[in-house]
Amino acid sequence: MQIARTKEELRTMLAPLRGTGRMVLVPTMGALHEGHATLFRQARALAGAGTVVASVFLNPVQFNDAGDLAAYPRTPEDDVETCRNNGVDVLFMPMPEEMYSADRSITVEETHLSTVLCGASRPGHFAGVCLVVAKLFNLVQPTDAVFGKKDYQQLAILRRLVRDMDIPVTIHGAEIVRGEDGLALSSRNARLTPEHRAAAPCIYKFLLEARADYAQGAPAAGVAAAVRRKLEGIPGVRVDYAELVDAEHLHALADERRTALLAVAAWFGDVRLIDNIELQRS
Ligand code: AMP
Repeated sequence: MQIARTKEELRTMLAPLRGTGRMVLVPTMGALHEGHATLFRQARALAGAGTVVASVFLNPVQFNDAGDLAAYPRTPEDDVETCRNNGVDVLFMPMPEEMYSADRSITVEETHLSTVLCGASRPGHFAGVCLVVAKLFNLVQPTDAVFGKKDYQQLAILRRLVRDMDIPVTIHGAEIVRGEDGLALSSRNARLTPEHRAAAPCIYKFLLEARADYAQGAPAAGVAAAVRRKLEGIPGVRVDYAELVDAEHLHALADERRTALLAVAAWFGDVRLIDNIELQRS
């Protein structure tokens, strides 16, 4: 595995690999866990004899809360090993000063899907995501990119980004990787108190109950409200949102024959966790 810390090093490493098959990109913010490793292995399977490129970049532009950025876990040495052991060929690990000019003045903003769910409570977050992913697409020029459904809204917005900007990259959505107790793996889980870590698997339990209720005909609004109520019953938990929306455009579900998305964000103490599940009427 080769490691590039500058854009120039990345270009030099990738030049001889172009045109030799697929080039599959997996962008991450580091503090890598088994969810990321699964994405790397899926990228490896997709690329075949081609190239897997991973990026580890804690993108300051997508943090609307300076405290959240400061507290975000950083494990660069372990991240290198995780990439090496899971089929990554080239790892791009730049510093913020390398990625951004001090007087940068271009924004990349999706304006419809970004207004709801996490976009409503984290202003500017998805513009930061779109900017960094657009830059990574230009730097790497991948044929394919893999993103997790854990960040379902991000995946939907990035599908729009490539569609509306005619970016020639095929986006692949990967299923959520969970611990044995059902908690979706997340770099932020490491910051939970032992009590909140023990309670957090209930998120998935409530999502599964909601899926069963919805399949049996329960009204959409009631299903989302029940998840909110159950979460609010846990000491120290504050719900940011629990909403049932259309899985593609993320706004109100107008046609119940379409796939629905039940998405939640909740504060467990000072750690904000997100999770989601796709729902269908049976
Ligand atoms: P992050 O480092 O949190 O920005 O995540 C990098 C990529 O890994 C994103 O596409 C995430 O959706 C994906 N990811 C993170 N956690 C999981 C998980 N538990 N299951 C599947 N994908 C994940």
